[in-house]
Amino acid sequence: MGKGKNGGTFSLPEQLKDLRLEPVDGEDKIKLGSKAACVEDLPAREVLQEATAALCDRLTDLQEAFHADGSRALLLVLQGRDASGKDGVIKSVSGAFNPSGVRISSFGPPTPLELRHDFLWRVHEQVPPRGVIGVFNRSHYEDVLVARVRKLVPESVWRGRYALINAFEELLAESGVVVRKCMLHVSREEQGERLRERLHDPHKAWKFRLGDLDDRALWDDYTEAYKDALRQCSTKAAPWYIVPSDDNKVRNFLVARMLVETMESLDSKYPPMDPKVREAAVGFH
Ligand code: AMP
Ligand code: MG
Repeated sequence: MGKGKNGGTFSLPEQLKDLRLEPVDGEDKIKLGSKAACVEDLPAREVLQEATAALCDRLTDLQEAFHADGSRALLLVLQGRDASGKDGVIKSVSGAFNPSGVRISSFGPPTPLELRHDFLWRVHEQVPPRGVIGVFNRSHYEDVLVARVRKLVPESVWRGRYALINAFEELLAESGVVVRKCMLHVSREEQGERLRERLHDPHKAWKFRLGDLDDRALWDDYTEAYKDALRQCSTKAAPWYIVPSDDNKVRNFLVARMLVETMESLDSKYPPMDPKVREAAVGFH
């Protein structure tokens, strides 16, 4: 796997070779139980941490070329229940990118103005332009998740949205936006732990929202809604990945690796110098 920082090569340690995300195949049975939130034979912390650091260095290099190339945009959609680690991924993985080329967008409950528009209006506006990496902290998928589970719109409305989302994402792909979607999957037990920690830690209590416990009580309804979104909207243009997220280090490693593989496949090129600039620079030494 690719060149490391300053052109040096690196490869993943043998024990991590098979630890990677596969896109969701709509034909498969989608598993969102407790087991799917963990990986078997958890590698040693230090090994994971070191490998993730190397992947993040690689992301830094890849983004430079990606930005200079400027022919495509990259959109990483992060979805997951409360305390699933969306902020953690943004900090640890997106932190590898030069901030001037990244745009992080968080989606909360729609404003009155947003509600007067179609559900994709506020989302489309946040899609990164070419040369930029966009990260969505929640997304248009809330409109088939919370909107469905909490009955914010009638069933006939949310049912029609899967096809609208697929068409929207296809439009993005056609326009040079590479879309990758991660569902950070935590088990009910682990979410319970994390929410309790939030209650008791003054540095985390602010993240606890009125409604988080209601959403937790609706666990099974959300599971069904997630399964439908994953099944119906994992496309070639915009694949979904289920990220086992009970362990933060595994989660960060998996997302970083998927991004490295995605960005390597883009084969971004530094554009050649403008001949006029080169000509003007003759004799400039
Ligand atoms: P958080 O990301 O935990 O800060 O919370 C954001 C909240 O906004 C979550 O409870 C989401 O379910 C909610 N939210 C995001 N998008 C929508 C939407 N389209 N409709 C209703 N609620 C939403
Ligand atoms: Mg929350």
